[in-house]
Amino acid sequence: MATLEIRDLHVTVEADNATKEILKGVDLTVKQGETHAIMGPNGSGKSTLAYSLAGHPKYTITSGSVTLDGEDVLEMEVDERARAGVFLAMQYPVEVPGVSVSNFLRTSATAIRGEAPKLRTWVKEVKETMERLNMDPSFAERNVNEGFSGGEKKRHEILQLELLKPKIAILDETDSGLDVDALRIVSEGINRVREQGEVGTLLVTHYTRILRYIKPDYVHVFAGGRIVESGGAELADQLENEGYDKYVKGGA
Ligand code: ADP
Ligand code: MG
Ligand code: MG
Repeated sequence: MATLEIRDLHVTVEADNATKEILKGVDLTVKQGETHAIMGPNGSGKSTLAYSLAGHPKYTITSGSVTLDGEDVLEMEVDERARAGVFLAMQYPVEVPGVSVSNFLRTSATAIRGEAPKLRTWVKEVKETMERLNMDPSFAERNVNEGFSGGEKKRHEILQLELLKPKIAILDETDSGLDVDALRIVSEGINRVREQGEVGTLLVTHYTRILRYIKPDYVHVFAGGRIVESGGAELADQLENEGYDKYVKGGA
């Protein structure tokens, strides 16, 4: 079983000609099969954590470590991270001009599996997964993220998640901008992948509503650039009732 270990992670960004520390010692262990929700107020550094794990060049790791089964993730190029089994769905996914969804998925699957998926089973798999996500078949011929609506971006993320079968999936605000029906469809997709028991999920969210559909094994409160409290699913209920006030006043 794969294990992602984040140890005392410190991250800075350059903003307004100054270096600002955003992550101030993040510790977290995510194992395959587990679902962790990271919840916290806006501006607490949740997306910075996701971007740092993705290897985004804007974010400088100043100390700490991230390993996958002991392998140094921070040393890996972005594509190597994907091949190692780390999947990142970003809050603001980038456009890939001139590359269709269909080509992108097949290229990604080939890179990750080390060989091209058999065409006939692959086409069937893509088609069935898109149907379950209520996606029109023509979507496969569109360019990645070009003019995608909020809901289409999220469905595309979950399509990737279902087809690429990562060991560790990091989903940043997958629930934002979705209406109730889309939220349910996206959540069902995440749950299908979870039920196979082979993915460790890091679900980053500001709102508790997605947790009505996806029951996390662990909930972590993120404030001021670090995890300030951890618990089970009941912690999300407490946050729903009480909000983040006590954490913001206390430690951020
Ligand atoms: P969250 O996802 O929890 O809302 P973010 O990680 O987006 O928080 O942001 C945390 C803090 O870091 C904010 O103060 C934000 O302005 C700052 N920050 C994040 N990314 C950048 C960036 N690329 N440039 C400048 N400041 C940034
Ligand atoms: Mg520290
Ligand atoms: Mg964010």
